[in-house]
Order: sequence, then structure tokens, then C-alpha cells
Amino acid sequence: MRLPPGSCACAGAALPLASAAMTTKKTTKKARAKRRPARMPKDWPQPFFEVLSAADPHPTTELNYTSPYTLVVAVALSAQATDKGVNLATEKLFKLANTPEKMVALGEDKVRELIKTIGLFRNKAKNVIALSQKLINEFDSEVPQSREALESLPGVGRKTANVVLNVAFGEPTIAVDTHIFRVSNRTRLAPGKNPLQVELGLEKIVPPEFKLHAHHWLILHGRYVCKARKPDCAKCAVYKYCLWPEKAPLEAEDI
Ligand code: SF4
Repeated sequence: MRLPPGSCACAGAALPLASAAMTTKKTTKKARAKRRPARMPKDWPQPFFEVLSAADPHPTTELNYTSPYTLVVAVALSAQATDKGVNLATEKLFKLANTPEKMVALGEDKVRELIKTIGLFRNKAKNVIALSQKLINEFDSEVPQSREALESLPGVGRKTANVVLNVAFGEPTIAVDTHIFRVSNRTRLAPGKNPLQVELGLEKIVPPEFKLHAHHWLILHGRYVCKARKPDCAKCAVYKYCLWPEKAPLEAEDI
């Protein structure tokens, strides 16, 4: 049984549900996207992260790596590819080359052959060799711990640098990928037109105690629950803290 339009599905929740039924036919999609619920709890988004934290206290990347170097390579390979696909490719690659020296010795042709199952493999093979060479030449074969130095490596942008700083060095950075971008906009955690706007928005609103893991909680939430085409609102742990006006109304049995 569906709830009547405008009623709140969450017992005790302070948020009114702005269901799809409240939108008029004349309302444009853009206008709906901008609308926020009339009332927002004072402590929002604290409970949003408390729920994610309770469900998964120690989240981590799903990419396989054994060192900061293999992490940089794995993250650089993950653009427009799934973690699963990258792990299949790096399983063979890292057995042959898990240091910058071994990677350079392996050579671009062999790297390309080993990673040919993932998207943009030609360019990525070139970058893996170039970044390995640069680590040898300028960083004593060590992965640097500053964003600026990381971003100077071929194939390493702000997102990859943020992942490495967070996962390898424990810094509370938030790397905005496609999942975090979508979840942050939908839930109204940190609306933004581009990844940098979303990242800076999240920096401002994520409570300090949740900053270290916010990146992974949001990625995993976007990957498995708040999916791009059909968000699984009925199974969403943060349903009552999500401010998306178009989230699916709950069925009575889900309340
Ligand atoms: S309620 Fe739906 S739209 Fe909101 S975060 Fe959960 S899955 Fe995403």
C-alpha cells in the first residue's frame, strides 16, 4: 500500500516528504531538482553519516593494491572502468611489476597488453610508464604525500590524488567520482555543477569525525543503493535524511 501524497513515511522523522505527488505537471525537472524540503533538521547531515558509519565502520577501497605505488597505478587505471575490471588486470600486472623500476623495465607494450581489457588502455599504459619513470627520477621511487606532487604525475588528477592521500596516507580527503557526484546532488548533501564544487561543498558540511571515511561511504552508497538509473530507496539506510524531492515513496511494509 502506498502512502498518501505528502505524508511522512518515517516514524519520528522531522523531514516532510516532498513526494512526486506534490509536483505539478507544469513543474520543470530543473525546478524540481532545485527544490528543498521546507524544514531541515538542525543537526543535518550528522545523522546521515552516523547511519552510514554504523553500518560500515571501516570502509575501504574495492581496488586491490599492496603499496602506495600499486594504489596510484590502480586508481589511475580505474577512470572509466569498474574496480572489478581493474582488479582483474592488475592481478597479472602487479605480479610482474609492483615497483616503478619493474614497471619501467616491463615496458609500455607489455603493460598495454596486460591492461587491454579496461577502457582507455593505450593512454593508461603510456601514463603508467611515464608516472613510474617520474617517480624514479624525481621522487626516489616513492609516492609523494602532497596533492601538488601527486598531480604532477602523468595520468594523476585531483580525484586520483585525493584517493591516494586518503587511502595510502590517511588524510581526510574526499575524491569525487561519478557516484559521489550523483549522491551529493540527489541527497542535497553538497549540490554542485562539477566535481570540484561538490568536493568543496562536502568539505564544508561533512562533520569532522566522519571526514576520513565519507569518501568510501558515499561511493559504496552510490554504487550499491543510490544507483544512477534506479535508486533503491526502499532499502536505503539514509532514506529519512535524504532531501531528494523525488525519492520513491516508501511502501507501508518498509516503514
Ligand atoms: S532515498 Fe533514494 S535517492 Fe535518497 S539517498 Fe536513498 S536511494 Fe538515494
